[in-house]
Amino acid sequence: MKVVIAGAGPAGLAAAEALLSEDPTLKVEIRTLGHIVGGRACSWRLPDGRTEEHGQHVVLGFYAEMRALLARSGVDEATATFSNRGRLICWEDRDEAAHTMHFGSSSLRSLADGLAYSGWTAAEKAGFAEMFVRGMPEVIAGVPESLDDVCLTAWCLGHGMPASCAATNAFRASREAQLNWPGEISAYAQLRAVRAAGRDYATSEALFPAGGMSEIFWEPIVARIEALGGTLRRWSAVDGVRRDGDTLRGLTFRAPLPHDPAHPWTNIYPPLAAEVEDVPVDAAILAVPPGVFGGILAADPELAGLAAFAGVPQITSIAPLGMHVWHKNAVTVRHQTVVFGLLPPLAFVLDNKPIYAQYRDDDRYGACLHFVGQESGYEDLTDEEMLVRSLASARKVPGFEGMDREGVLDFKVIRNRAPHKRYFNAEPGSLQFKPHCKTPIEGLFLAGDWVRNELDFPCMEAAVRSGRQAAREVLALLDARRATRSGRAA
Ligand SMILES: Cc1cc2nc3c(=O)[nH]c(=O)nc-3n(C[C@H](O)[C@H](O)[C@H](O)COP(=O)(O)OP(=O)(O)OC[C@H]3O[C@@H](n4cnc5c(N)ncnc54)[C@H](O)[C@@H]3O)c2cc1C
Repeated sequence: MKVVIAGAGPAGLAAAEALLSEDPTLKVEIRTLGHIVGGRACSWRLPDGRTEEHGQHVVLGFYAEMRALLARSGVDEATATFSNRGRLICWEDRDEAAHTMHFGSSSLRSLADGLAYSGWTAAEKAGFAEMFVRGMPEVIAGVPESLDDVCLTAWCLGHGMPASCAATNAFRASREAQLNWPGEISAYAQLRAVRAAGRDYATSEALFPAGGMSEIFWEPIVARIEALGGTLRRWSAVDGVRRDGDTLRGLTFRAPLPHDPAHPWTNIYPPLAAEVEDVPVDAAILAVPPGVFGGILAADPELAGLAAFAGVPQITSIAPLGMHVWHKNAVTVRHQTVVFGLLPPLAFVLDNKPIYAQYRDDDRYGACLHFVGQESGYEDLTDEEMLVRSLASARKVPGFEGMDREGVLDFKVIRNRAPHKRYFNAEPGSLQFKPHCKTPIEGLFLAGDWVRNELDFPCMEAAVRSGRQAAREVLALLDARRATRSGRAA
């Protein structure tokens, strides 16, 4: 039985690993657009060995499935990641001060620690605590989907949070930290994440990858998939679905045309060769971004007309933005964790100098800063303006005063506008547009952080869980077909 997975992001890789772990007799092939695995959580090396990433990522304590997948793939969390030991720094504009958040060793303890945050007044903390007490039953009960029509701010205010809290950077980060999204987000999406964080709580520590994620996370997973008998075909872009009525028969692929290797498609979607390769399948998982699936639908009006896919073209997304700055001085001495609350569009910064093995002992660099945010609304800023603005904003944080332009050895702004690089957001009302993993086309399944899944909050863990869910659906279908066949034979 042959299963093809299109897309080698977290969802596609998780799906392949789950399929092969469960049934090693399956012929599982992943095909992906480029040569770099990891999707929007990917990284690549410059010719001189430095690492660039699509965007700074963090692995949170409740990422149970992702962490288990990494462990099965031989990734040693202790060496492959750097822990912030539950400590975060938030710059607050209203009192022009940097405040530390220090989360403790259990979910309840973390809540108490969160309330010790020095950036809020006693009255604000009391209101925030009241919100938790009033809102928690809803969260524990599962978070109703009707909350997708409510924005997170309104939900918090409605449950007792003082309005002044909403204006702080600490609160703003609740949507910007995970989503790089400056607008309102759905209360449903965020509260589902809060629920998962409480239920699957393992640690309050945020883990930062200790190197480029494609190298240290995703390639080891590929190696495990190959060891289990699966294959990965790079440079192969899905562009169509072949079916017989409502049963999937195959996928069509085209090779991307040669491109400038210095630009691994961060800004453009590559043109595809004219030649079409038809790949017959027993089942397939499309673990591609929503914009790519939207393109497949646009070329197949009958498929596009199915109610199950009606919302896909409506799924909106934003252009994520990253900026690497290699500085000759050690400009972040006091903060070995992420600092947020900086001026948009790059509100977060982390120094990877002490985190990445490749930089730790390299005397050329005093700091290897990685800023992250989203570009929408700031498209007109030149790279130089982006740099100057971000350094000026970070310089206000005590310990960051040395972030001068003169000390910058090199910098690179990573703008991501291609449909396969844009970042799905969770704005209020967006849930209705998301398709389910199981589609009306027998044998065709969807996976990704934009597909309905048990988390319903766009992040790597959701993608991994969605990929594993798609694998379970495929296995159930193949089992059912086998049972039908053996029933007929009997
Ligand atoms: C800047 C930024 C920061 C982020 N920070 C965090 C974070 O801190 N923590 C966190 O958990 N999440 C974070 N995320 C989100 C995380 O990256 C995504 O949730 C995750 O990558 C989604 O995985 P996926 O497999 O669903 O999709 P993707 O990662 O988008 O993977 C899709 C795959 O499909 C491939 N593809 C595209 N077109 C085709 C085609 N036509 N044919 C075949 N293959 C194709 C792509 O190359 C890719 O391999 C961040 C995202 C961004 C952009």
